[in-house]
Amino acid sequence: MKIYNTLSHTIEEFKPLSGKKVLMYTCGPTVYDHMHIGNLRTFVFSDFLYRTLKFNGFEVTSVQNITDIEDKIIKKAAENNKTIDQITNEYYQYFINDTQELNVPLKAPSDQPRATDYVEKMIKYIEALVNKGFAYVEKDGSVYFDISRFPNYGKLSRIDAKQLKTGTRTLSDEYTKDDAADFALWKSVSDSEFGFESPWGKGRPGWHIECSTMSQDTLGNRIDIHTGGVDLIFPHHENEIAQSEAKTGEAPFVKYWIHGAHLLVDGGKMSKSLNNFHTLADVKKRGFEPLALRYLFLQTHYRQEMNFTWEALQASQTALKRLKKTVSSYDEPKIGCAELEAKFQDAINNDLNMPRALAVVWETISSDYPSSAKKQSILLFDGVLGLGLS
Ligand code: AMP
Ligand code: ZN
Repeated sequence: MKIYNTLSHTIEEFKPLSGKKVLMYTCGPTVYDHMHIGNLRTFVFSDFLYRTLKFNGFEVTSVQNITDIEDKIIKKAAENNKTIDQITNEYYQYFINDTQELNVPLKAPSDQPRATDYVEKMIKYIEALVNKGFAYVEKDGSVYFDISRFPNYGKLSRIDAKQLKTGTRTLSDEYTKDDAADFALWKSVSDSEFGFESPWGKGRPGWHIECSTMSQDTLGNRIDIHTGGVDLIFPHHENEIAQSEAKTGEAPFVKYWIHGAHLLVDGGKMSKSLNNFHTLADVKKRGFEPLALRYLFLQTHYRQEMNFTWEALQASQTALKRLKKTVSSYDEPKIGCAELEAKFQDAINNDLNMPRALAVVWETISSDYPSSAKKQSILLFDGVLGLGLS
């Protein structure tokens, strides 16, 4: 199986750290609002990867964090006169419902850790970084990672280390490459704000430390795969590498970094802040079934940006309906078509070429094999595609 690794900028042969075992981590949602279908594209891409690994006989442990403490959550709770727990539970449930409707398998709670359950461990993690000299405490009680102490800073996003503004600091989790600076591990807050007690006073953890702490606690110091959307490469994943490798002394923290391209609207990134987004509820309101969206995602390679239009979704829904109808009319599954199964596997193993894999499905349908053989193979394919064929 071959896959593109952001770290090397090349398509590599996939070889896990240990035999057939694969340790995989996906950056999860911040649960303060509905996911938009761009977010869902990334989570479905991560599911295609998971299913492709399983198809190849790998034993995959897949963990995804839930960010349930963050400035936006606190703001939303205050605006709505609700508690933080009420907001996070409500939107966590929406997230689960959306992903389930898109046939992304539900995770065991232990594989879906929540940030608020890990604050103690994050504090210990930060203490270890301070003790090793990679982090420093400011007068106000905030703790920062000192990027000048980590010579490999920038290796994932390939920013020029010389241009880093060493000695400058940012409290924000969303700074850009142009102002790369020491980043906050712990943000001090005033007595009246929501926060946790720590050796440095009351505060809240930064977002990046969450993922280092939770991925290493659940999977170990070194993992095979880490995924997310391309916008997470910098600063989030760059900072995760710095924290993790500084703390453990083991490198690389992640063997394969695999990132999904964005969903666009009118040529621009779909995002909450631009207010140009659609949710799965919008999709359903317009009469589409959720799996039509999954079908649409299959049609574009995960590393290609994809412009969303309702017309394209309509075409996907029509194709999916035809596919379902055809497959359900077939005889009971018997020995499948080996040649087409090999072709399908070749497509998915070639850097998750889902558009080609989908073409193999249609090729199978129009082939001369008996319908029992077609059914056998297509159900096998659907283990990866997840279109609910039967
Ligand atoms: P967030 O809740 O903003 O952290 O986003 C959750 C996931 O969705 C992350 O992996 C992001 O990289 C990804 N994401 C955000 N916007 C888009 C988009 N327009 N298209 C695809 N993925 C996105
Ligand atoms: Zn993350």
